[in-house]
Amino acid sequence: MKKQLISIIAFVFAISVTAQENYKDISKADSVKTYIGKSFYQVKSFPQNFSSKTPKNVILMIGDGMGFSHVFAGMTANGGHLFLENFKYTGYAKTQSSDNYITDSAAGGTALASGHKTYNKAIGVNPDSIPVKTILEMAEEKGMSTGLVSTSAITHATPASFISHEAKRSYYEDIAGDFLKTDVDVFIGGGYKHFTQRKDGRNLVSELEKKGYTVLRDMNEISKVKSGKLAGLTAPEHNPRLSERKDMLPVAASTAVNILSNNKKGFFMMVEGSQIDWGGHQNNTIYLVEEMLDFDQTIGKMLEFASQNEETLIVITADHETGGFSINGGNISKGIVKGAFTTGGHTASMVPVFAYGPGAENFTGIMENTDIAKRIISLLGF
Ligand code: MG
Ligand code: ZN
Repeated sequence: MKKQLISIIAFVFAISVTAQENYKDISKADSVKTYIGKSFYQVKSFPQNFSSKTPKNVILMIGDGMGFSHVFAGMTANGGHLFLENFKYTGYAKTQSSDNYITDSAAGGTALASGHKTYNKAIGVNPDSIPVKTILEMAEEKGMSTGLVSTSAITHATPASFISHEAKRSYYEDIAGDFLKTDVDVFIGGGYKHFTQRKDGRNLVSELEKKGYTVLRDMNEISKVKSGKLAGLTAPEHNPRLSERKDMLPVAASTAVNILSNNKKGFFMMVEGSQIDWGGHQNNTIYLVEEMLDFDQTIGKMLEFASQNEETLIVITADHETGGFSINGGNISKGIVKGAFTTGGHTASMVPVFAYGPGAENFTGIMENTDIAKRIISLLGF
C-alpha cells in the first residue's frame, strides 16, 4: 500500500514536471532540420534621431536561447533581412552563471534582471538565496510603469526573474504569488493555472481583480485594453507554437507598450521570445526559425513605437545559446536554412547584444550579462 502511494506520488510529480518541460524532447526527425522560406515580410528602416541623451523608457527584449546562428538563420529565412538591422550598436555577452559554465534561463534571467550572477535554477536571488532587487522593482519604486510579456507561462524562469524571488524556478505557484506582492502594471503570457489551481487554495485571479487588475484570457480582448492594470493569462500553462498562437507576441507587446506609455514618468518592460529556446532544445530548425521570425517582427513593432517616441531605449539579447546550433547550408533568395545541432541543451557561447535609442552606445564590445542590467540601471538613474 505504501509502495503504491509512493509510486502514485512519483507519477503525479513526473506529470507535473513533464508538462512544464516537454519542450525539451529532442526530435530525431530529419524533416524538421531544414526550414524552407514561405513569404518574406518587409523590413523597414527606422530613423535614428532621439530627443534625449538618456532614456525615459526601456524595453528589454530577451530571445531565450538566441545565439548568433539563430539570428542569421532568421535573416536567411526572411530573404536576407531582419528588423534587427536597425540596431547600430551591437556587442557580445558572456552568460556563465555563478556555479556553472553553462547557465540555465533562471540564472541567466536573474543576471539580466538584477545585475547579479547566481546559481542555475535561482529566481531573483543571489548565490546565498537572498533576494536581489530587479530593474522592474527599482522602476516601480520610482513611480514608473512596468510590464512583462512572454510566450511561455508568465511564471516561467525568464519573466519570473524580473518579479519573483524564489530559491528554485520550479516553484511555479509561489512565483505566481509573488506577482501579487508587486505593483507590476501589465503582464501577458501563459500560466493561468498557477494562479487558479493551487495547493494553497488561493484564487489569485480574484485577488488580482481586487487589486484593480483587468484579468483576461483572450488575446482579442486583451488587445483592446488601453489603460489601467492588465493581467493577460493566455494559456493554462505555456502558449502553443506560432502556428496556433499566431501573432500573440507582437500584439501583446504592442498592447503593453501602449498602456505603459501613458505614464509621464516612463516605463520598463521586458518582452521575451521564449520558444526560440524550445526549437533549440528540440533540435528543430523549423520551430527555431519560426520563433526567431516572430521575435523579430515583435522587435519591428517596438521599433515603430520607439522611433516615434524618441525617448525609448531598446536592448535585445539572449540569456544563453541553445542547441549548439549551426547552419550547414541554405539559400538566402529562397529563404532556406539547413540547421545542425551539437546538443539538446544550452551551450556556454557568448550571445549577441543589440541596442537602439538614447544610451544605445553603452551596449557595445564584450560584456558580462550582468553588465547589461547594470548599464540599464545607471541610464535610468537608479
Ligand atoms: Mg524563457
Ligand atoms: Zn532552455
